[in-house]
Amino acid sequence: MKIKRFVVGMLETNAYIVYDEMSHEALVIDPGCELRKMTDFIDRNFLKLKGIVLTHCHYDHIGAVSGLKKKYEAPVYAHKKEVKGLADPQINHSAYSNGKPVSISVDLALSDGDTIAVEGFALQVIHTPGHTQGGICLKVVDQDIIFTGDTIFSDDIGRMDLEGGSEDSMKKSLLNKASKWPDSTVINPGHGDSSTMGDVRKRNAEYIYMVK
Ligand SMILES: [Zn+2]
Ligand SMILES: [Zn+2]
Repeated sequence: MKIKRFVVGMLETNAYIVYDEMSHEALVIDPGCELRKMTDFIDRNFLKLKGIVLTHCHYDHIGAVSGLKKKYEAPVYAHKKEVKGLADPQINHSAYSNGKPVSISVDLALSDGDTIAVEGFALQVIHTPGHTQGGICLKVVDQDIIFTGDTIFSDDIGRMDLEGGSEDSMKKSLLNKASKWPDSTVINPGHGDSSTMGDVRKRNAEYIYMVK
């Protein structure tokens, strides 16, 4: 399994393509807003896009979803509590951004513990509300690699003051889920560089009580 990261848009959002080199099957995690970067890579590497998985609804992560879905007929996955926000430009904030308002319909609504499997690898859904109600992290099955969206960054955690955000939920997500991830776990966040949970525990001093 390989991971390709793209940094896209004004907010320098991380968009990921996860793929298997043998089968060429791929999943996009949070395509961001630069469709061309995604399609160029997918086409150049002869990847078969099997799904577009969204960690949460915010506009900086979703601009290229419709274009990808149309071109590759890949289904859109998101947590069931994120369906409303993805459809509503006010909630996903695209209504307030410089681009066009974005409304996305989810094809497959996810719950905590669900697995999205393609030939060669699989992602497991970890529901981590706090930044949004239906925010998820995605763990690569059988590997210590987790895509954390805007829940955990290498030196911070996601803001909790937007619609659906909740400090109480964030604390629970960190205590009940993230605190169990070993130091060696690689985290690939929605913004900024990758890190390990060991480094996150050191750097996130302010929130250490949550993630220790
Ligand atoms: Zn966000
Ligand atoms: Zn973001």
